[in-house]
Amino acid sequence: MSEQNYLLNIPETSNKRIVIVGGGFGGLKLALKLYKKNFQIVLLDKNNYHLFQPLLYQVAMSGLEPSAISFPLRKVFQKTGIHYRMAELETIIPEKNELVTDIGRLKYDYLVLATGAKTNFFNQEKIEKYTLQMKSAPDALYIRNRTLENFEKALNKCNEEDVKSYLNVAIIGGGPTGVELAGAMAEMKKYVLPKDYPELDMRNMKIMLYEASPRLLAGMSDTASKVANEYLLKLGVEVHTGTPVLDYNGQTLFLPDGISVDVKTVIWAAGITSARIDGIDESAYGRNNRLLINSYNQILGYQNIFALGDNSLMIDSLHPNGHPQVAQVALQQAHYLSSNIKRIIQNKPLRPFHYIDKGSMATVGRHLAVADLPFANFKGYFAWLLWSVVHLLSIVGVKNKVFVLLNWSWKYITYDQSLRLLVKHKSKN
Ligand SMILES: Cc1cc2nc3c(=O)[nH]c(=O)nc-3n(C[C@H](O)[C@H](O)[C@H](O)COP(=O)(O)OP(=O)(O)OC[C@H]3O[C@@H](n4cnc5c(N)ncnc54)[C@H](O)[C@@H]3O)c2cc1C
Repeated sequence: MSEQNYLLNIPETSNKRIVIVGGGFGGLKLALKLYKKNFQIVLLDKNNYHLFQPLLYQVAMSGLEPSAISFPLRKVFQKTGIHYRMAELETIIPEKNELVTDIGRLKYDYLVLATGAKTNFFNQEKIEKYTLQMKSAPDALYIRNRTLENFEKALNKCNEEDVKSYLNVAIIGGGPTGVELAGAMAEMKKYVLPKDYPELDMRNMKIMLYEASPRLLAGMSDTASKVANEYLLKLGVEVHTGTPVLDYNGQTLFLPDGISVDVKTVIWAAGITSARIDGIDESAYGRNNRLLINSYNQILGYQNIFALGDNSLMIDSLHPNGHPQVAQVALQQAHYLSSNIKRIIQNKPLRPFHYIDKGSMATVGRHLAVADLPFANFKGYFAWLLWSVVHLLSIVGVKNKVFVLLNWSWKYITYDQSLRLLVKHKSKN
């Protein structure tokens, strides 16, 4: 065993070693497609679980516990022979086919970067410091804590303006995440909070959704966007499209035309970017730090380093700005890449990636959702049901599916959610 490999203690074999960094949608699917094929698969992730991000907003809104949407990677890999290490990638040394992590070094024959994306604050320091983001399980828990904590604080304020600032919630970004969060918050305001906080006048609480572009759900059809807008208004959300948020200082949100709002809970859901990885040439990065890849997922300038999913940018005639950063793209790219890695070994020609858009959906609340499918657009009850079924089926693990279904059923019947524990942890401000 070489000294480098010893550091991560992965055994040497005569099989080609494929190192996959990231156990999200793309990385996990790829590992599971390749492990039976005479490769040595090593999967590294800085967390020891796979996270189902589409339901993070329900964790943030006290509807689900993080464990219901997380699945331990070691459990997924039982009996597969896949080597998993909890490690954070720091640097790649392509000329040596080697990578450096926070726990040691490792050689690879093929390296796949499936590291996803992180929140993009667009270099706005104060916004980054004072707003809440929703990209990980701790982020979602922190939103839950902050919201509940601010309600507790509101009870102790005498001045009505102070009370309002603690009750108000602003969500920045009118994509699916912002829309779903705003809808879930509005349902909490309607069904749950008045019962929990009878001493507070809920008319003092405003839920505000800000979107810089002229419409919500920019990635979906005009109809979906209009319907989602209507649903949110119906639930009592203030929707401000064409309104870029200029700044936030932890107390006041600054808007165009000299308008400002006092609000203590501000959630930033206005964009994502990728983290740069040391060792990859500057020329391989495209917009928002996405790694430029060819149609076989090879990073530009590298033969044996691949990227897939949210951190990659494949440009073709149908997708001049790259594919949408959604789970389906990561899953479909993993499927193609698994086949192409096998083809490389067999000296066969590679198959270029073709994305099949299966449609997109967003839910706003009970019986309120929008769905753009390739054959038709839906809204209302049917879209909501479809959204629920698709999400339930996509969650990894039978136990998690059952837990989510039980939580949803309980909430559906009682109009309540029972997970409002305020789990304190070290705050960032
Ligand atoms: C709140 C939210 C809601 C969403 N809703 C939807 C939806 O409804 N439908 C949809 O299709 N998509 C949705 N998405 C997007 C979807 O989750 C992503 O497109 C998908 O997760 C991308 O898969 P991926 O494999 O590229 O990355 P991810 O699933 O993000 O996985 C990346 C993995 O890499 C690991 N990692 C990152 N950096 C390192 C490092 N340096 N070293 C080691 N490990 C590392 C991370 O821990 C993570 O496990 C949502 C995203 C969010 C945040």
